[in-house]
Amino acid sequence: MLRDSVEKSDVLIAGAGPVGLYLADLLGKSGLSATVLEEHERIGSPNHCSGLVSRNLDSFVKPSREWIEHEVSGAVIRCGNSFVRLRKPRTAAYVIDRSRFDASLAEGLDVALGVRVEGVSAGEEGVAQGKGDISVKTRRGTFRSKILIGCDGANSIVARYFGSRPKKLLMGVIGITKEENYSENVEIIIDKKASPDGFFWKIPRGRTTEYGLFSNNVDFLDLERFFGLKGYERRAGLIPLGPGKTYFPRTLLVGDAAGMSKPWSGGGLIYGFTAARIAAKTVADAFEQDDFSEGFLERYERGWKNVFGRQIQAGMLGRWIFENSGDFEVGMALRTMRIFSPLLNGMDMDFLAK
Ligand SMILES: Cc1cc2nc3c(=O)[nH]c(=O)nc-3n(C[C@H](O)[C@H](O)[C@H](O)COP(=O)(O)OP(=O)(O)OC[C@H]3O[C@@H](n4cnc5c(N)ncnc54)[C@H](O)[C@@H]3O)c2cc1C
Repeated sequence: MLRDSVEKSDVLIAGAGPVGLYLADLLGKSGLSATVLEEHERIGSPNHCSGLVSRNLDSFVKPSREWIEHEVSGAVIRCGNSFVRLRKPRTAAYVIDRSRFDASLAEGLDVALGVRVEGVSAGEEGVAQGKGDISVKTRRGTFRSKILIGCDGANSIVARYFGSRPKKLLMGVIGITKEENYSENVEIIIDKKASPDGFFWKIPRGRTTEYGLFSNNVDFLDLERFFGLKGYERRAGLIPLGPGKTYFPRTLLVGDAAGMSKPWSGGGLIYGFTAARIAAKTVADAFEQDDFSEGFLERYERGWKNVFGRQIQAGMLGRWIFENSGDFEVGMALRTMRIFSPLLNGMDMDFLAK
């Protein structure tokens, strides 16, 4: 759906990724009109994500065979000759097709496709004082709302407008081959010589196999060398780590736009959905109180920090230790983890320190 004139809805969401779409649905259920602006012409495309997501997903979205490609119950983490095997008695994580998943989330929502947010405007009455509307400029016209939510991913224009940046911006590259792979385990391989600050992975996707690398500085050549890959489908994307400030006058940042990824894996879906729920409640309260000031919206950041703020802080510290360790130290850590594997098997892969 495209528009050429000034449009107004209660809430504008920049970015029709999974987090923006899930949030739009929640807002609609609380009686607010939400318009999602998406720069691409198709939801879910391009796909830059592995879509490995824990069963915590069940509490946000009903699992569907339409987008679940495979299910895994465990992981093997290796470094040289050292390894640890972690497993759950049943499905630990889904391997989902992100394009289909995102498309299913968009059903029934007001999404303006091919509309890139190019700028945010404070408006005549001064959004900085929490007065007036907030507006967003696009080549298709100006869109206005009472509140704007930046769900526009790792390179968020909305976050940049307010000067909020993640602490780190890493990169993930993925190669998908046509090898059938119904293994029960995801493999994580650490090799400091091949990637000093990241890790490689192999994900069974059922009809295909995914090879990947997540690091500060990556290239498809690294994947090709490490796994001996030839003839594969390429995907790549940015992974923001360490959120900056996430609330401003008439504005919130949610998901990757806010840097809400797990520092140990780069996964961002569960934290993004968790924050979207808190954002939806904050926005509904703001409409009820007719208060869109920064002071009122601060409760959103307090809310998400209460749930996973410490996980991210501890994860950033763990990441720093990992980046400053060699294969020897990582091997030792894996051998120690083996001793505690019965305990680790019971852990939640999203909320490690619950
Ligand atoms: C290689 C890789 C592998 C990953 N694997 C996993 C995984 O296995 N599990 C997991 O949980 N997470 C994974 N992630 C992270 C996951 O992809 C993100 O956390 C998730 O996509 C965040 O969703 P989002 O809606 O916040 O942002 P995004 O999915 O990035 O969506 C942002 C949307 O905004 C749109 N947009 C951007 N700028 C504008 C603009 N100016 N105007 C309009 N629209 C705009 C984009 O087109 C996009 O549709 C991975 C990431 C990468 C890069």
